[in-house]
Amino acid sequence: MAETIFAKIIRKEIPADIVFENETVLAFKDINPQAPVHVLIIPKITEIESAKDLSTEKHSKLLGELFNAANEIAKKLGVFESGFRLVINSGKDSGQEVPHLHIHLLGGRKLTWPPG
Ligand code: C5P
Repeated sequence: MAETIFAKIIRKEIPADIVFENETVLAFKDINPQAPVHVLIIPKITEIESAKDLSTEKHSKLLGELFNAANEIAKKLGVFESGFRLVINSGKDSGQEVPHLHIHLLGGRKLTWPPG
């Protein structure tokens, strides 16, 4: 799998506005925010291209950690009570641009449905 820009962010080779980091998860503000709060939550391991690559056997612990991080970030950035949306684009039709699993956390405004 080709290296993505997120691998460089994980290694701190390019700057990012990091809002959360632990051993397995990194989260940073999206450079093209679609809401007042728009954070990308990613695993530090680079081999998961998208949600279709996830398996219970290999990734259940990691998935728990990603969603725990999402809740912590929502609290830290003040949208836990008001509400927030978690989005995972997977594959071409979803508009996924970066082939490294990432959860978008969006909030801070009334979000519409359905998404475009
Ligand atoms: O789900 P998708 O792959 O389309 O999302 C990729 C996201 O990564 C975009 O929202 C884009 O703005 C963001 N991005 C970023 N920093 C980069 C490159 C992309 O926040 N250096």
